[in-house]
Amino acid sequence: MRKILFAATVFFLSLFSFRFFKPNQTIHITEMPSNVSEEMTQKSITIEYITGKFEPKFHANFVQIDRKYADKDSLLLRKETYEAFKKMYAAAEKEGIKLTILSATRNFAYQKGIWERKWANLAPQIADPVARAKNILQFSAMPSTSRHHWGTDIDLDNLSNAYFEKGPGKRIYDWMKKNAAQYGFCQPYTAGRVAGYNEEKWHWTYLPLSKEMTEFAEKNLKEEQISGFNGAETAVKLNIVKNYVLGINHDCY
Ligand SMILES: [Zn+2]
Repeated sequence: MRKILFAATVFFLSLFSFRFFKPNQTIHITEMPSNVSEEMTQKSITIEYITGKFEPKFHANFVQIDRKYADKDSLLLRKETYEAFKKMYAAAEKEGIKLTILSATRNFAYQKGIWERKWANLAPQIADPVARAKNILQFSAMPSTSRHHWGTDIDLDNLSNAYFEKGPGKRIYDWMKKNAAQYGFCQPYTAGRVAGYNEEKWHWTYLPLSKEMTEFAEKNLKEEQISGFNGAETAVKLNIVKNYVLGINHDCY
């Protein structure tokens, strides 16, 4: 009798799970491109995530930024970053400060486009690959190593430091320096650091998420894993993780 009861329970449970899980699987497959793995829909940080090898618009934790907050359509951020940004935006607006997102998430494929265009343009002037990479790295990250892969980082208002040094730009920067931390935002590329990209007064990171990602990169991202674009072989020689990924303002790490 017990055996029969057990067999019947197993039978009904399998029917139940078949009915409930089958449709979900179908939705999952139709909504996600085949290269996006199951774990990308969850919170866990992986090497694929850190190196931007996913499609943010199909990632469950990303949302599109309303045009009100950005200078273009279709920009994407992690939900948590976006919620925090909206609060900061409202507070700034009350004081007559207009924050506009110019760039948000850029995945590996997008960054590869930027990098390889610069790589090809500089080829006639700079033959040495390491010197050429260094030149690009003044302002642009190597694919796989950009904080813009993470959905935690934004570029605000203007892509020139000079803009933030006088007039309305200075008012924005002064406001951010005073208030951004309250909303979780930190400027990773400050002046006077010993390594990494030049100062960027427009680039801000949402620390509650990105701190963990920086720590993950420190532990797990190896230069040897960086590949798939022209000039990738320079990553090892440039010690790109230590000097660039971790070469940030210590308040953001
Ligand atoms: Zn940026």
